[in-house]
Amino acid sequence: MADKKLKIGWFSFACCEDSTMVWIELMNDRFFLWKELLDIKHARVLKRNNSMKGLDVAFVEGAITTESDARKLRSIRKNSKRVVMIGSCAINGMPAAQRNTFDEGTKKEIEFLIKQFKQADSVRTIKDIVQVDDEVPGCPMVEETFLQVLDKYLKEFGVKNA
Ligand code: SF4
Repeated sequence: MADKKLKIGWFSFACCEDSTMVWIELMNDRFFLWKELLDIKHARVLKRNNSMKGLDVAFVEGAITTESDARKLRSIRKNSKRVVMIGSCAINGMPAAQRNTFDEGTKKEIEFLIKQFKQADSVRTIKDIVQVDDEVPGCPMVEETFLQVLDKYLKEFGVKNA
């Protein structure tokens, strides 16, 4: 058993959460291994009591559509030594940021929804708001890349030897 575990958080902003599903699917083969290596401190898909304090790595999927989500993201950044963007919506905003590309007429049509749901004027990516350390591209995320990035941080934080 590893003496030390990697303290991680998994966060989802505006998106379809398919990368979360990919992560959960990966547990079919890795649950008992990850149980020894990972201290999952925040993952609302897995547990009710969550904490984002003192994370080694925060994995963040989705785009930022409201000011309150932007504040939450800044707080995640403050509490995490590393921040990894998960999936295309987090990295470049798309497809979650489609409304940014609407023509003026269509923007006018959806104006009431923007107000009703307290949405920001435009959809932003994770790196529009905070500094990031890594990314796992794909829609949903590419499994292999995620495993490589996770492995990198397991080594960097001394949980697993090279
Ligand atoms: S990148 Fe694709 S899979 Fe991931 S949240 Fe966005 S639309 Fe869903």
